[in-house]
Amino acid sequence: MLKGKTALVTGSTSGIGLGIAEALAAKGADVMLNGFGEADAIAGLQKRIADQFGVKVGYDGADLSKPDQIKTLVEHATAELGKIDILVNNAGIQFTAPIEEFPPERWEAVIAINLSAVYYGMHYALPQMKQRGWGRIINIASAHGLVASVNKSAYVAAKHGVIGLSKVAALENAETGITSNCICPGWVLTPLVQKQIDALAERKGLSGEDAARELLGEKQPSKRFVTPEQLGELAVFLSSDAASNMTGSALTMDGGWTAQ
Ligand code: NAD
Repeated sequence: MLKGKTALVTGSTSGIGLGIAEALAAKGADVMLNGFGEADAIAGLQKRIADQFGVKVGYDGADLSKPDQIKTLVEHATAELGKIDILVNNAGIQFTAPIEEFPPERWEAVIAINLSAVYYGMHYALPQMKQRGWGRIINIASAHGLVASVNKSAYVAAKHGVIGLSKVAALENAETGITSNCICPGWVLTPLVQKQIDALAERKGLSGEDAARELLGEKQPSKRFVTPEQLGELAVFLSSDAASNMTGSALTMDGGWTAQ
């Protein structure tokens, strides 16, 4: 279904980004991975995905807090895969503290990686998509793009910003064959969330299992984690021709979190 298409997925050495890269590769897309990690582990990932699905898998370790590295990431992906048809802006970080204690440098880092990098990715990739008259921009926002929680000022601000930015891209490109949508996951058990579970366990003297249950119970009515595989299938749908008239949307997959 995506044979002949190419995808750049930021933050795809782990978690949701990896799930999305694998799901797109499974449908035949060539993919460019990005993110941090050990060189051997990343080379292993590239080989596993390439062998399993018979697609090309590149890697670029660009730091998305650095605009010039996002420019070279887009250039590298274009050179290695020939073009970028699908841009998945997924890389993200979290930091929690009340606003008055929130360290300014953490605020800047969360905004840079979770929000500004989405702008830079689009800024550098849109011209070639426009030229070909086809493109898919898929921004990984969050339930926190739609509602807030305490202690997550930078994250909530960035994710609300991503949804607004994504809508602007949808409108500017409504007649170009390019769509721009957000996926808004609830809790997904990835390293980003594991850190929050560990902190909760430590704070309340709970086992890891009880802390995970409490975390889910507080926000996610399904009381089950969303999986990277499920989010990958949603990204595949957004990349399909069936979704060609779906743009400017913020799609939740959150176990009912934002229905409350
Ligand atoms: P994760 O920590 O498992 O993965 C994050 C990825 O981003 C990794 O590949 C990491 O190397 C990469 N990354 C981090 N900083 C980077 C930087 N400066 N430059 C390049 N790459 C960088 O996290 P995840 O949970 O898979 O999160 C992925 C996205 O999904 C994030 O945008 C996050 O906000 C969003 N999200 C996650 C959840 C959840 O419950 N896990 C829920 C809603 C939204």
